[in-house]
Amino acid sequence: MMNFKDRSVIVTGGTRGIGRAIGTAFAAAGARVVISGRNGETAAQVASQIDGEVHGLALDVTNADSVQNFFSAALEILEGLDVVVANAGITRDKLVMALKDEDWDEVLDTNLKGAFLCVREAVRPMIRNRSGRIIAVTSVIGLTGNPGQGNYAASKAGLIGLVKSLAQEVASRNITVNAVAPGMIDTDMLADLPEKARQVLIERIPAGRPGTVEEVAGTVLFLASDAASYVTGEVIRVDGGLAC
Ligand code: NDP
Repeated sequence: MMNFKDRSVIVTGGTRGIGRAIGTAFAAAGARVVISGRNGETAAQVASQIDGEVHGLALDVTNADSVQNFFSAALEILEGLDVVVANAGITRDKLVMALKDEDWDEVLDTNLKGAFLCVREAVRPMIRNRSGRIIAVTSVIGLTGNPGQGNYAASKAGLIGLVKSLAQEVASRNITVNAVAPGMIDTDMLADLPEKARQVLIERIPAGRPGTVEEVAGTVLFLASDAASYVTGEVIRVDGGLAC
């Protein structure tokens, strides 16, 4: 059920961290994969380092033209589209009272509007094919909120609203739309965290450790697999119990 041979997969933000692990896992399971990065050369370089059929293309999800160009190039390379993973995301953490307009706009434009633009491009060919899997990478912070992450929490909560709405719009076309909500995962996104803050966070995780990128990728592959054909509009936490 986890065999993706001849399936076409797009992963936004695949140059590192969770997106790279998702692209790697799909390629290992036999899929044809396109990953993206804002810098096309970096994306192509990363793609060449992954075993299997992986292509890297330029994409800035905050730019509508870039999204359109990326999807038309990716669909041509892949000759179709079975799975899209809207993974690209950023943080600009500050207490709400200190948030600048730019901090708000940058995070909402990338994490929420960017995901919307990508999902809108993806769903059209899927509706024509009457088949598809859409998976958005949200966050447990979108479920619980977090001091210092008001903009990020709003973007990720909004993404859950988008997923649940779209799931109901396209369920009759054999398209599922789901979200994974990672907790604390060891990636560059957490690299700036001071060691003390990191330890405090880890103490709050029932599993007693951060998650790995492969653990998030595994859940994404499940949602894209035949095993999850009747799962839609769902948010699956991958958080070691952090937000239960
Ligand atoms: P990283 O910072 O390691 O990677 C982010 C990825 O997003 C990169 O590939 C980057 O590509 C891409 N990206 C950033 N901005 C844009 C943009 N404007 N257009 C296109 N691509 C962009 O983050 P993670 O791997 O940690 O996070 C991946 C996702 O998982 C995010 O949505 C994040 O919110 C979510 N998440 C992460 C958690 C964690 O603990 N790490 C916890 C919960 C959720 P490039 O810079 O090459 O353009």
